[in-house]
Amino acid sequence: MAVQTVASTTESAVDLGPAAALSCRECGHRVPLGPVFACEECFGPLEIAYDFSAYGTEELRKRIEAGPANIWRYAPLLPVPADVAGKPNINPGWTKLVQADNLARELGVDPGKLFVKDDSGNPTHSFKDRVVAQAIEAARAFGFTTLSCSSTGNLAGAVGAAAARAGFRSCVFIPHDLEQGKVVMAAVYGGELVGIEGNYDDVNRFCSELIGDPAGEGWGFVNVNLRPYYAEGSKTLAYEICEQLGWELPDQIVIPIASGSQLTKIDKGLQELIGLGLVEDKPYRIFGAQAEGCSPVSTAYKAGHDVVRPQKPDTIAKSLAIGNPADGPYVLDIARRTGGAVEDVNDEQIVEAIRLLARSEGSSRRRRGRDRGGHQEAPGERCSRPVLDHRRAQHG
Ligand SMILES: *Cc1c(COP(=O)(O)O)cnc(C)c1O
Ligand SMILES: [Zn+2]
Repeated sequence: MAVQTVASTTESAVDLGPAAALSCRECGHRVPLGPVFACEECFGPLEIAYDFSAYGTEELRKRIEAGPANIWRYAPLLPVPADVAGKPNINPGWTKLVQADNLARELGVDPGKLFVKDDSGNPTHSFKDRVVAQAIEAARAFGFTTLSCSSTGNLAGAVGAAAARAGFRSCVFIPHDLEQGKVVMAAVYGGELVGIEGNYDDVNRFCSELIGDPAGEGWGFVNVNLRPYYAEGSKTLAYEICEQLGWELPDQIVIPIASGSQLTKIDKGLQELIGLGLVEDKPYRIFGAQAEGCSPVSTAYKAGHDVVRPQKPDTIAKSLAIGNPADGPYVLDIARRTGGAVEDVNDEQIVEAIRLLARSEGSSRRRRGRDRGGHQEAPGERCSRPVLDHRRAQHG
């Protein structure tokens, strides 16, 4: 408790729950919580530093299990105020962990051993709702009035929806050649949608420039100046997977890579659960997946390099088409440290995998939210609709 008091008075005036400060991932330099994302000493990325010292393991577990059926059940582990569940937000998360026995059989995996985390159950049908929900709380704390982002598609929809719900203006920037479906999905929420001539990396550069400019005054860019807060939302995937497995670590986990943020934060989430005693420590392996047409991280992995050389994306997997992934080097570290790997597949294989998933699990009517461990009343279990529904078509 004492530590928490010291941290909040000397380091940060805003109330973002257990978040105590920002800390540089490279050199450890600490700064107070604020809308900053790069270290003033070394330009390294800033991350949230927490104070979890007040938590007892079983008390925390009970508090989580008694929480709402969305990401806010993990509020004690996120940079959000304690009363977050009562604020206007899109409340994503607690999506189904589907035991994919049919797919397992097709792939030659033992039944009961393969699960698919179906994040199409989120409000705008992608995992981006998890990260944007965090960014909204940070934007509120810092007094921003406009929510913005650079997007490959899914993020634009999530930002539009969250801004509408929470009462922010929104203005999102997308590559001019984005698929029509994604554009419509983002436009329906009523915010501004601006097409920029160029690919995602060009759009992202444009947004970074706006931040220093008076035109960007009062704007929170969820994946730029709010990035440290935004990124923490991906930890909830790790928390949910472990809780849905009955508070157990998975042996192996395969994660798609765009900027690499989701992968690095899932690892951070797993490490936190181990540190807090919520799961038993055991080795786990993390695998990263890229499209061949945009594979800067897998290319570096296979070549044994520590640095990631930018590529010009050319793939149908537009949501993953980031040629200059900010967290690429950290992904390499994690894959190597855990004994995982980073691999890429071509567009044909992607289409075949979508078909395989639909064919093997799409018409499944088995009643399954989560199949292992205790927690009979886990909210995710009540759901028995087919694994893949029409919304799946919007992915990819
Ligand atoms: C954004 C996104 C990812 C991963 O993004 P990162 O930038 O690596 O965090 C994965 N899948 C989908 C569908 C996405 O939209
Ligand atoms: Zn630094």
